[in-house]
Amino acid sequence: MNKPPLIVTRALILFGTPLLAVTLVPYYGFHVGFGVFEWSMGVLFGIMTLHSISAGYHRLWSHKAYQAHAIVRLFYAICGACTIQNSILHWSSDHRNHHKFVDNQDRDPYAATRGFWFSHMGWMIRDYKSGKVDFSNVKDLVRDPIVMWQHKYYIELVLVTNVGLPLLLGYLFGSALGVFLLAGVLRLVVIHHFTFLINSLAHIWGSQPYSDTNSSRDSLVLALLTFGEGYHNYHHSFQGDYRNGIRWWHFDPTKWIITALAWVGLTSRLKRAPQLHIEKARLAMQYNHALRKAAHLQEADRWCQHLEERYAQFLVALEEWATFKREWYRSKKDELLATIERAELKQRYAELKRNVKFQRQEWHLLTSQLAAT
Ligand SMILES: [Zn+2]
Ligand SMILES: [Zn+2]
Repeated sequence: MNKPPLIVTRALILFGTPLLAVTLVPYYGFHVGFGVFEWSMGVLFGIMTLHSISAGYHRLWSHKAYQAHAIVRLFYAICGACTIQNSILHWSSDHRNHHKFVDNQDRDPYAATRGFWFSHMGWMIRDYKSGKVDFSNVKDLVRDPIVMWQHKYYIELVLVTNVGLPLLLGYLFGSALGVFLLAGVLRLVVIHHFTFLINSLAHIWGSQPYSDTNSSRDSLVLALLTFGEGYHNYHHSFQGDYRNGIRWWHFDPTKWIITALAWVGLTSRLKRAPQLHIEKARLAMQYNHALRKAAHLQEADRWCQHLEERYAQFLVALEEWATFKREWYRSKKDELLATIERAELKQRYAELKRNVKFQRQEWHLLTSQLAAT
């Protein structure tokens, strides 16, 4: 089968920079050596660019999961160009297609169903039909002057941030070539592959707590490498949420930074998926998993019936709790409410909360019993 034509500039960047990183960087390190300043610049550039892809390109522009002040958008636009992953407009268009047509080999630009290599890098270096961009899905972004400015001057920004700035900083405070090699070349290669792993490995390896209707997976290891993007199964289920790691212990520095910026007014309208929807998705996955396991047991019918009843009771408890919570928050604002009514509501609130806790415990008990069989 004839392969689509090679996109030469992309192939040169994607194969050339790793070649430089594994030859020139050790050569220079051995013969000249890198100082603290050179290493610090490498790390700083790494953090700023990785965060800009995650918080800017991904959660802000592709998913509109929150809003950001122009200063923040400008920072993300400049540092995002420094990752050489195309302009915001192009990246977001690809990414929206990825979510819309996930795993579809003809329409998902980096479908993991076409294998690790294709979704990791292969999709970028040839002119595949699945990667055709028409920008019709990013009309909202066209209205953002910073997005359009970055799109227009993308090549200039790539050169200034990857070559000009490291050389200048190195010339002023250390070694020009040293900073260029660490903050320019080596940093670029590392950030490239860490972010590419979200398109490849995060669709192959890890758990699926929220959905198995697509190949996306959750992985702590990938979250550690990508500033929190590794909770990819959650993200594919709730793409409008500004968080990827939703538990407090989940490693998601992008979420922490977006939240911190909201405290000082630089980000706003942070979107979160409703807790009820999240819990229902997780519960449905556990239920299906448990049913599959129970089907192979001796008393399959009894197990399935038991699971069905518990699942239904848990769902009812969750729904009641979510509905009542809305009423509860409304009542808090109602100053005319009598003290007695307020006390009744408080009691009901506590009851429903207890019931959800009880149902959760019962559910865990049943599923662990099943797992032990
Ligand atoms: Zn994905
Ligand atoms: Zn996404």
